[in-house]
Amino acid sequence: MIIGVDICNTIARVNEALALHFLGTYTIPESLQKQRRWDLPGLTPDFFRSPTGMIFLSQVQPYNGAAEVLSSFVRSGHKVIYITARPQETELVTRRWLKEHHFPCDEVIHSEEKGLVCIEKEVDVMIEDDPFYAQQIKEAGVSLFLVKQRYNATFPAPKMDWKMARLILPKAVGKNIKSERN
Ligand SMILES: [Mg+2]
Repeated sequence: MIIGVDICNTIARVNEALALHFLGTYTIPESLQKQRRWDLPGLTPDFFRSPTGMIFLSQVQPYNGAAEVLSSFVRSGHKVIYITARPQETELVTRRWLKEHHFPCDEVIHSEEKGLVCIEKEVDVMIEDDPFYAQQIKEAGVSLFLVKQRYNATFPAPKMDWKMARLILPKAVGKNIKSERN
């Protein structure tokens, strides 16, 4: 079984870090919680390519439990690959971050065409947060779970958090294996 995992706001608490960096607050303002991308002063598409952006990414905190759950899947013989829309320039900082926070890491793919990557890599289940990419993944016919966020509440896909993941994902993974056999 191949499990695809997004990084920003799926395993890495990027929006909270953006709130701290750009607004100086630990809590994300209500109005921004509903937006998948934030329109903040100073946050340009090039921010994550800049030296400040790289340092920012290296300091983001992971979601509790995510690394443990993904590691347990790898120990059970599944494969975890990361599919992220972060720019290719962030590859090194991203790989270091995964290692530092004990995420299992064979492969990191940087792409904004996540549906196509899922097909190409024969991903069985994808874990995402962003409705934009969730739509691509759904259209590619790949099973999908969304890490629960305010901005994906109305997207028609099952939601999870990393506490629930240990219970939910093995069932989903098991179901897929079963349907493959039928
Ligand atoms: Mg994301």
